[in-house]
Amino acid sequence: MAKIKKKIKTIKIDADKCNGCRTCEVVCAAFHSQPKYSSINPAASRIHVITRRLDDIWLPVFAGEYSPAECMGRDKYVIDGKEYDECSFCRATCPSRDMFKDPDSGLPLKCDMCEGEESPLCVQWCLNDVLIYEEREEEVEEMVQIEEMDAGLASLIDRYGLEKIGTALARMSYKA
Ligand code: SF4
Ligand code: SF4
Repeated sequence: MAKIKKKIKTIKIDADKCNGCRTCEVVCAAFHSQPKYSSINPAASRIHVITRRLDDIWLPVFAGEYSPAECMGRDKYVIDGKEYDECSFCRATCPSRDMFKDPDSGLPLKCDMCEGEESPLCVQWCLNDVLIYEEREEEVEEMVQIEEMDAGLASLIDRYGLEKIGTALARMSYKA
């Protein structure tokens, strides 16, 4: 399998510093609205701040991969005496919850690191330095990129059915 260099972008989270202001959700939703900055709906954000005020928990989680099925294993976490729900640290868009689904279309949302921007907007706007942007280069097998494309296609097929997606692809290839 051919290896290619891939720039890995990630956001580290220092959750202890988070005060739950939700600025990150607002700026993410605004940046990704169509046209850009035309609306603010935090439900359409690719970052979500899990909030449990009474337990002093504010935990920003940004959207990861689409998963067509619920997972089998669920763990409870206790960190510094705080108990986190089973799905708290999970970044997947999955059928067991509404998080990271577009409120209008229901399609899965995934953090794209604010493609086109110098650095992610949620990082830029978090004034408490909770979100720390990191870049590194890794050698990955070419297959990983194909798997990412497959996951995106699978979510569209789940939503619209194979026939409609096939028709749309045929239409697009005809125009190309
Ligand atoms: S902007 Fe920063 S402090 Fe505010 S909710 Fe998001 S991560 Fe927490
Ligand atoms: S990096 Fe950009 S897309 Fe990802 S959660 Fe932050 S604002 Fe949203």
